[in-house]
Amino acid sequence: MEHKTREEVIDHSPQNTEKASGELYLESLRRMAEHNKEASRYPLTGLYNMRTFFYLSSELMQQNPKSSFGVIAMDIAQFKSVNEFCGRSEGDRMLKYIADCFRYYEDNRPKTCVCQVRADNFCLFTAFEEEQELVDIVQDIRAKIDEFSFAYRVLPSFGICTSEKEQTSVSYMKDCATIAMQSIKGKFFAEYAFFDDEMRKQMLREKQVENDIVAALKNGELTAFIQPKVNMRTGRIIGGEALVRWRHPERGLISPGVFVPVLEKNGFIINVDRYIWEQIFSYLSRLKQEGRPLVPISINVSRVHAYDKHLCDTLVELTEKYDVPAEYAPLELTESAFLEDEAGMFQRMKKLRDRGFKIAMDDFGTGYSTMYMLKSQNMDEVKMDRIFILDLEDEKSQIVLKYTTAMLLALGSKIIMEGIETEEQKKLVLECGCENAQGFLFYKPMPIEEFDELLRKQEEAQ
Ligand code: C2E
Ligand code: MG
Ligand code: MG
Repeated sequence: MEHKTREEVIDHSPQNTEKASGELYLESLRRMAEHNKEASRYPLTGLYNMRTFFYLSSELMQQNPKSSFGVIAMDIAQFKSVNEFCGRSEGDRMLKYIADCFRYYEDNRPKTCVCQVRADNFCLFTAFEEEQELVDIVQDIRAKIDEFSFAYRVLPSFGICTSEKEQTSVSYMKDCATIAMQSIKGKFFAEYAFFDDEMRKQMLREKQVENDIVAALKNGELTAFIQPKVNMRTGRIIGGEALVRWRHPERGLISPGVFVPVLEKNGFIINVDRYIWEQIFSYLSRLKQEGRPLVPISINVSRVHAYDKHLCDTLVELTEKYDVPAEYAPLELTESAFLEDEAGMFQRMKKLRDRGFKIAMDDFGTGYSTMYMLKSQNMDEVKMDRIFILDLEDEKSQIVLKYTTAMLLALGSKIIMEGIETEEQKKLVLECGCENAQGFLFYKPMPIEEFDELLRKQEEAQ
């Protein structure tokens, strides 16, 4: 292709603003890359860093508008273990070797550039005619990594994204290749995955959540529902759990399963949790002002708070602002919160308990560190996940239910069973000595006003 000077290429007429902004983007990438020649390469391996890679590959794309391009992203599962088991110098040797496998393509294949994103994270950008060429590159690199004899065998995963008909940016393609890669990370038999339509839809859904959530919070579209907790013997409501709901103006009521995981990825869940907690404290303070008996309404604490140094202060401030004792807002924590920053989380928990908060372990039975945590830390309550009461016609499931409940009771834990839907489940759980439950058989999550109505009736019946 004939090269034009930059000034010739940049056309500032309004119709071309999109093209012009693409050029400006390239220009700013080029300036950044040139300003910082030293920093444009990854020190250990000498491969380009991501910024320079974006600039070079964007330029290749602009110079070859008729070519199809692909981005291949690669990550090594558990690379940390290589450093831990084989020593850092062995880890470095491996990274240099892998870098050479990538560099080979930069040196020998036209219209190709490669980079190192992080230690064990590499990217390759190349023009292709048949998709199979990209698969061949992946398989070649994987075979070379397999050949290199290490005391510790590593498992690379590859994700591939190809440019579409419409103009796509390299950074978008890299994001898509990374999503494809993550879909198979650590799976031994899956060598690579292409970014496909399902992933694209999922990504759009996630982007939409990210785009809409800030306004949703401001416009009051998020609201706390409460699901009553009952004593199954007496039928009395003993408290509730706050569960967030999103009343989307177009999409209706959205359940947290759809948006909480997205907000946990970008950290915004911290704001949402705080908002829900505030609604609950405000409701509890209303009960108090009306001179009615308080019941504990537990609030969910996302695993993201494992990194939140202000967690304790935020919660204590709420108890002071609303003048509600901490024990009426028990905290539901999932085990995964402890996987993130175990020591920090234990510390935070201790501080919270010292300030009067009760801690419940949520979704007990679905994580990894459960048993260890039961031994090492005093929980005030354990919420048994509904997996314990699925398939109860199977004798094995009954045994697991019976002995797990017995163990928890012997440890002195208070327990509550989640997700009871049938009389049969209720009967078996009661037989195990667990009286408290939460489930659709009794009540579904409901708006605070409805919950309040139920409480009022219960108070009047006394
Ligand atoms: P979770 O904390 O374990 O909450 C219990 C979930 O089980 C709720 O789902 C509830 O509606 C559902 N459930 C209750 N009884 C039954 C039953 O009998 N059968 C079945 N199939 N399900 C039942 P929901 O409201 O969709 O919430 C899902 C998860 O989202 C929650 O699980 C929690 O981890 C998270 N979540 C909800 N609200 C919040 C929040 O305000 N903050 C944070 N960080 N996470 C939240
Ligand atoms: Mg919960
Ligand atoms: Mg749960």
